[in-house]
Amino acid sequence: MNDVERAATSTIASGSRTDVGAVREVNEDAVLAEFPFFVVADGMGGHAAGDIASAIALEQFRPLVGYAARQELVHAAIDAANEAIVEWTQQRPETMGMGTTLSGIALGEIGGSRHWFVFNVGDSRVYRYAGAVLSQVTSDHSEVAELIAAGRITADQARQHPRRNVITRSLGTQPGPVPDFWVLPAQPGEIYLVCSDGLTSEVGDDDIAAILHLRRSAQATANDLVDRALAAGARDNVSVVVVALADDDVAHDLDVATAPRPLYRDGVS
Ligand code: CA
Repeated sequence: MNDVERAATSTIASGSRTDVGAVREVNEDAVLAEFPFFVVADGMGGHAAGDIASAIALEQFRPLVGYAARQELVHAAIDAANEAIVEWTQQRPETMGMGTTLSGIALGEIGGSRHWFVFNVGDSRVYRYAGAVLSQVTSDHSEVAELIAAGRITADQARQHPRRNVITRSLGTQPGPVPDFWVLPAQPGEIYLVCSDGLTSEVGDDDIAAILHLRRSAQATANDLVDRALAAGARDNVSVVVVALADDDVAHDLDVATAPRPLYRDGVS
């Protein structure tokens, strides 16, 4: 293990969990939690379609695993995910209409310091927890988000709304969706949460913040969040990825000075 590998493995901890929930028969969510990608995809389209859509989407990121992320390659992977799903449905008309959300973060480098690239299509979410404050980084692409923005319903009402599952952007469409994209500097001690709506439909932001505040290990935190959704009824599939940067993570910026570069030799073809 070289210095770069040590820096990455010692300062970033991640944990993930995906669960079918208490009502659904198939888990159409998929997660990827391999440095530098921490991503959730929430598939739709019914049995043997939604789960394929989310899996196809995440597959496009695998060739990039192990390398510091580059903005243009993240965009290219999102475009490739859309095209791969469209191509799949064209060859199999019975899967027409399948698609997936895609939300995630990827660690890369800009100007000599590490940054998170945050991306979103659909109503899965990325949250950031820092300084005891939880903020939702992404904006939902959903009908209820538009109703909230218009002042017609509250966030609490949205979680119970009959059309809460209707999203306004997804992968698997022609033309492809425009993803939202943010670039945020990586900060010591911060925690990122990527999750499907199966978590946020059941567990409010205050409860999510309370769980993150405990600062248990990333994997224990992921388990706690899913357990809370299950206890609340888990009417949908539930997926979470938790990513924590160590408190003392200050000295490693220059270790990821040029992108892309291999951070792990194993598993990279
Ligand atoms: Ca869902």
